[in-house]
Amino acid sequence: MLESLSERLQGIFSGLRGKGRLTEEDINSAMREIRLALLEADVNFKVVKQFCARTKERCLTAEVLESLTPAQNVVKIVLDELTELLGRTDSKLVLSSRIPNVIMLVGLQGSGKTTAAAKLAYRLKQEKHSPLLVACDVYRPAAADQLQTLGDEMGVRVYRGDGKDPVAIAKEGVQDAIDHLRDVVIVDTAGRLHVDDEMMEEAEAIKRAVKPDQILMVVDAMTGQDVVNVAAAFAERVDFDGVIMSKMDGDARGGGALSIKQVTGKPIKFISAGEKPDSLEEFHPDRIAKRILGMGDMVSLIESAVRVQQEAEEAETAKRLAKSQLTLNDFVDMNRQIRKMGGVRKLVSALPGGDKALGSGQVDEGALDHMEVIINSMTKAEREKPDLLNGSRRARIAAGAGVSVTEVNQLMKQFNETKKMMKKMMPSVDELSGKKGKK
Ligand code: GDP
Repeated sequence: MLESLSERLQGIFSGLRGKGRLTEEDINSAMREIRLALLEADVNFKVVKQFCARTKERCLTAEVLESLTPAQNVVKIVLDELTELLGRTDSKLVLSSRIPNVIMLVGLQGSGKTTAAAKLAYRLKQEKHSPLLVACDVYRPAAADQLQTLGDEMGVRVYRGDGKDPVAIAKEGVQDAIDHLRDVVIVDTAGRLHVDDEMMEEAEAIKRAVKPDQILMVVDAMTGQDVVNVAAAFAERVDFDGVIMSKMDGDARGGGALSIKQVTGKPIKFISAGEKPDSLEEFHPDRIAKRILGMGDMVSLIESAVRVQQEAEEAETAKRLAKSQLTLNDFVDMNRQIRKMGGVRKLVSALPGGDKALGSGQVDEGALDHMEVIINSMTKAEREKPDLLNGSRRARIAAGAGVSVTEVNQLMKQFNETKKMMKKMMPSVDELSGKKGKK
């Protein structure tokens, strides 16, 4: 996600870290590089200017320059300012008490509206709502069929008023939700390739007809800062409450995501990163900022793990793992769950430095299978008590698995690091499990 920007910034920081003490000139030169990196990521120039001015001012203090770890302090300040740029606070989707709640999606054609509508429905269904999808895009011939197919796959009802006008379809859709006891209506509207009057008028008419509880604008992350102009046009005519940033899995440079909140004042609520229905993630500015700076996104990772656990009703295992009573059998289980969570690449991408590792080709998709083969060569006692693994046992296991002792040692190192990490993450997991308990 936003790999090239992330790489550039991390490069700048490792240059600073190598210096030990920092002078004013070091900060100035780092700021020039950061400015360039942001401009190249297609962030709006006004946003870049403000960002750099604020960051520089905060970095050029005696407190930072004369501290024992000046580079670390600079990274902290950039992290803080980046979080601010992305919107600071989480902006969750809050449904009002009206039943059915109506969520209307707007955006240009091809921005990913239909896909996002389906993903949102999937998410709401997971949260025990009963959504209804309404197909109001009557101009793109395949749009209603696309929505229908996605709805059928997820077991979500789709209302399509083939042959009718979009305003009538939207109204009838709401009635259909009432008739079929659905509590959230997601209205997929038509887009055009460019902002035009007709599209805006239609969106306004639908808005008047169904009085949505909220309007979300779907924005293609690949469009860069141009989205800001489109968003401003929508904000002026139909107004909207938040943004779904789609196609974040592609090679989006980041300009759109980093500019939109500052320029339009509208928060990003979700990011869509993939083809699968479960690839709509809540947007957490602090976590994304950390990812951009190569610090990983452990909390999302744990949340994803907890979700998988919940689905399998294995939350108890998660707690045990978190309490660091990890065994190698658990490691094999985790291995299998990683596959359920979208595979190694998705997971690595959320780890500190993960995107960089992915970019450099260091990530081997087959590594998990390899690991399983090694663990399978251990005795039951060894798997449960990894401390037993002395030199001669490791040599026996290596021979049994057909690998070198170094590979067994690497696996054990990874295992021990995971154990440590799990221990650190324990409060988050408990918090999450607690959340589950309240539901
Ligand atoms: P609409 O015209 O706004 O309804 O756009 P669609 O939902 O039809 O999406 C346009 C294209 O973008 C389709 O080919 C989608 O599969 C693709 N797409 C939408 N969202 C995502 C995403 O998050 N990631 C990727 N990789 N592709 C997406």
